[in-house]
Amino acid sequence: MNNHHTAIIIGGGSAGCATAIQLKRSNIDFLLFEKDEIGGLARNANLIENYLGFPQGITGKRYIALLKKHLEHLEIVPEKNEIIQIQEETHGKTIALGQAMGNTEEMKKQDKGKIIKNVHHIGDEIWNV
Ligand SMILES: Cc1cc2nc3c(=O)[nH]c(=O)nc-3n(C[C@H](O)[C@H](O)[C@H](O)COP(=O)(O)OP(=O)(O)OC[C@H]3O[C@@H](n4cnc5c(N)ncnc54)[C@H](O)[C@@H]3O)c2cc1C
Repeated sequence: MNNHHTAIIIGGGSAGCATAIQLKRSNIDFLLFEKDEIGGLARNANLIENYLGFPQGITGKRYIALLKKHLEHLEIVPEKNEIIQIQEETHGKTIALGQAMGNTEEMKKQDKGKIIKNVHHIGDEIWNV
């Protein structure tokens, strides 16, 4: 896998998927991370009433199925992982972003050891994904 990407997208909800589709169309390489399932909050929507082209509304389930097809069609394969940020405690400044190597609850309990696979140290030019 190519380790260097111009952009990473955190979250495969509507916003993340729209971004991924646009970057793909613009030929900009990226990784799309989704910690759970593609679709985000729309997974909980019985009926989306204001989606363009669907005057009767569209169920969240159908909308997400179409969203997944759109990604597949463009050969966009999301990475299933949570991205977490490491913050400096005193000033709250973000130091690094990483792929979680466990879930958030496991990490909260952990007081030592490796908890992320590093993605980016803020200020670095190298994004190692
Ligand atoms: C019941 C319900 C009904 C709705 N009905 C409508 C409607 O009719 N019309 C309408 O316009 N809107 C509706 N909405 C709102 C719509 O679903 C949201 O506006 C939309 O989903 C927002 O998209 P988003 O991509 O910004 O965020 P989200 O949908 O919240 O997606 C964020 C995604 O990011 C992932 N994620 C978050 N943090 C991380 C991380 N650290 N690492 C990796 N992945 C991460 C999450 O798992 C999630 O999949 C409804 C929402 C609900 C809950």
